[in-house]
Amino acid sequence: MSMVMPVIVGAGPAGVRAAEALVAQGLRPVILDEAPRAGGQIYRQPPQGFQRPKQELYGFEHRKADAVHRAMAALLPQVDYRPGSLVWNLEGKTLDVLQDGVSTAVPYTHLILATGATDRVLPFPGWLTPGVYTLGGSQVALKYQGCAIGARVVFMGTGPLLYLVAYQYAKAGAQVAAVLDTSRFADRWAALPGMLRAPGLLAKGLYYMAWLRAHGVPLHSGVRPVAVQGKERVTGLTYRQGARTYTVDCDALAYGLALRSETQLASLAGCEFEYNTRDRNWAPCRDAAGRSSVPGVYVAGDGAAIGGADAAELAGERAAIALLEDINHPHDAQRARGLEARLAANSRVRAALERAFPFPDDWAQGIADDTVVCRCEEVTAGTLRQAVNDTAAQELNRLKALTRVGMGRCQGRMCGAAAAEVLAHACGRSPAEVGRLRNQPPVKPVPVRVVCLERREKVSS
Ligand SMILES: Cc1cc2nc3c(=O)[nH]c(=O)nc-3n(C[C@H](O)[C@H](O)[C@H](O)COP(=O)(O)OP(=O)(O)OC[C@H]3O[C@@H](n4cnc5c(N)ncnc54)[C@H](O)[C@@H]3O)c2cc1C
Repeated sequence: MSMVMPVIVGAGPAGVRAAEALVAQGLRPVILDEAPRAGGQIYRQPPQGFQRPKQELYGFEHRKADAVHRAMAALLPQVDYRPGSLVWNLEGKTLDVLQDGVSTAVPYTHLILATGATDRVLPFPGWLTPGVYTLGGSQVALKYQGCAIGARVVFMGTGPLLYLVAYQYAKAGAQVAAVLDTSRFADRWAALPGMLRAPGLLAKGLYYMAWLRAHGVPLHSGVRPVAVQGKERVTGLTYRQGARTYTVDCDALAYGLALRSETQLASLAGCEFEYNTRDRNWAPCRDAAGRSSVPGVYVAGDGAAIGGADAAELAGERAAIALLEDINHPHDAQRARGLEARLAANSRVRAALERAFPFPDDWAQGIADDTVVCRCEEVTAGTLRQAVNDTAAQELNRLKALTRVGMGRCQGRMCGAAAAEVLAHACGRSPAEVGRLRNQPPVKPVPVRVVCLERREKVSS
């Protein structure tokens, strides 16, 4: 058998369980993660030396967090783990990895992408004001650094994270001025039969809501933002509920409209993509085991489709077994089938969750023309709409070429979803029909020097 060099990108629940399955069969994977410690987003660990107990950090999930951390600790002698390593490019079965300011090439024969997800946000007037954070970002501040984004915080958006993070802030001592949900009570009610498939998850959600209410936090549904108040710093949020408009005072706002898979590396690997209607997102095509359309490249966890941490653990292990199958290595076929069955059951629960917290598909239409959509290139919604009117553009990469939307430092990670929504409304097509931004390296910002050196070496070799 030719030499197998498996690489896993991501040391979250999916990446850790994938590594464990490979190590159990005698392989020694490289694990790359830009975070300084393993755990991924949900089980993110604070810096070494921080002393908050796990129960406080991870709440109901503290045992699962501990299990993933312990699993990773046990793997360390048998894997090549490189924390603080950002994979910023992928070309010809080689990853470009930035660690401590130096970029190195990491070749692979087999690649498991377990890159997780990030917040999805849509713009509205004032969203770039200091003091406005994404929901996940506000949680990272609390979980990783033990600090709050403000003393009086409003949480807005939709999805299970909304109530969880508001609860975590309130428990940590911040004043939660309001929780403003863009979904309606009727949405959540309609999703109830589906949610009964996951009574534990449902109970936790209801508990967070009840706890917040019992502690005097106003919870409102069916909300749309009007504008952030304040120039130098957020002083409040004006929002609409039905026909009425309200303003709530705050010194910070956290908002997010569920999560979006991080798929740039799969795109650079040449994986085929398909539109995932449930997640309202383009995602790599994959089979039930996590095989992408490119032989030897596997996708698992939230980076493949939003499924939550438990599903990420299952999918990571399943993808690793697929890798073992593909190299004709011993593997547990029965275990693989069991994992697939559990993943299918989880997928049905996700469908109910999406129904409970639907994406507010009227939001993009209401974005004022002078609101910036792409903050790197300062492209407004009006500029995008004008380009559509002037050129009849109906495809996202065409719009990018015309306006520079998504061409800046973030390469569309922050604005891509919003630009697609604005374009879809402006040209009367669906978000699926307007396509997705073609990904270009670097997938996350790196120093210019790194990219230049890399190019020079490639040209001279
Ligand atoms: C900010 C945030 C907070 C969340 N908090 C919660 C929560 O409290 N409760 C909950 O139930 N769910 C939460 N979720 C969702 C939850 O994190 C996921 O369902 C779960 O962690 C998915 O596991 P995963 O292994 O697929 O990905 P993740 O846990 O996201 O792990 C992916 C890992 O890949 C690494 N990575 C990504 N791209 C690169 C790259 N290019 N180079 C190197 N490394 C890379 C990341 O650093 C990360 O460690 C959160 C999500 C986000 C985005």
